[in-house]
Amino acid sequence: MKRQSLVGCAVVALLGLTIPAHAGRQFGQLGKIGGAVKKVNDLRELQVTDQEEAQLGAAVSERIRARYGVVQDAAVHRYLAMVGGVLAAASTRPALPWTFIVLDTDGVNAFAAPGGYVHVTRGALALIQDESELAGVLGHEIIHVTEKHTIRSIQKSKAVQMGAAETLSGSSALLEKAVTATYDNIVDKGFGREEENESDEKGLELANRVGYAPSGLGEFLTRLKDRNKDATEKRGLFASHPEMQSRLDNLKKEIAAKKLASTATLADRYKKFITYTPTPVTEIATVAAGSAGLTGDTKKAEPKKEEPKKKGGFGLSRMLPGGGGEKQQAQVTGSGSARGVDPEKDAKGGSNPNPVPVTIAAADLAAFKKEGGLR
Ligand SMILES: [Zn+2]
Repeated sequence: MKRQSLVGCAVVALLGLTIPAHAGRQFGQLGKIGGAVKKVNDLRELQVTDQEEAQLGAAVSERIRARYGVVQDAAVHRYLAMVGGVLAAASTRPALPWTFIVLDTDGVNAFAAPGGYVHVTRGALALIQDESELAGVLGHEIIHVTEKHTIRSIQKSKAVQMGAAETLSGSSALLEKAVTATYDNIVDKGFGREEENESDEKGLELANRVGYAPSGLGEFLTRLKDRNKDATEKRGLFASHPEMQSRLDNLKKEIAAKKLASTATLADRYKKFITYTPTPVTEIATVAAGSAGLTGDTKKAEPKKEEPKKKGGFGLSRMLPGGGGEKQQAQVTGSGSARGVDPEKDAKGGSNPNPVPVTIAAADLAAFKKEGGLR
């Protein structure tokens, strides 16, 4: 794929989906998450401007959409953009061109790309049972963006070495490397434990702040764990991986320690818009691991890059069967073709990568919040 189209068309095509900046600002003062200012200093060496971040995110999103396809349903996208928009407006970066995309795959997953591109799979929506759970998942992904975990992942990448005078927007070769590294980090490797914890904790706070029951994320993750119970021994083993339980314990601890007490769950509204039914993990059609290819080609895995492996990554996908943590590290360390198949991540995707543009005005968001008793 040519660079030109990779970057250019994604930016143009996705514009219609964004939440207007004024909508964000209107609600942006409700609360700020601590720590954002401090983080800026940590990031100085990155030399990635907001504009470059958006450019990178658009290109990464295009690859994710090409890999999994996009559900061509405006009503579903509009609902996702409403819930995401309420949360994003209360985040530390309300003015980003937040874009919420439903990927057309049975695999249960979610991916945050730089610049405000949040992707959730149809399989994840099928497993989610109410709006507070959706808010938990989106809140978690939004924090990956606002805390720039996505940007930091390429900073650490040896594949993306910047010369002193180089910038992402000034070098298309560098940008393409950054897009590939970011995609690999987000889709194949996941974030590290520290980033996941931060996203869990701040994501809960974010959901709670706008009025959602903060237990949503934990409810969803517990169901995800149950989903793996009857799977083959390998997955079953992974499902009982202690990391998942300690993660769930940590969520409960956070809610208690911070006395997070919002109560909206909004199951009826969720079911009005989302009517998918989950596909059992054993029935998910997959393409070969490692191809993660734009074409979904199953023939051969690409040689793996020489990057240091994340320690104990356990993002949304990371606690899935065969999908993460130490197990995945072992797979990645071996030759590309030796990697196992993770039915959620390696699930077959739909064929239509086109975004589904929806436009949401500040008044729409306000009405949506009022109807749901949100703040
Ligand atoms: Zn995560």
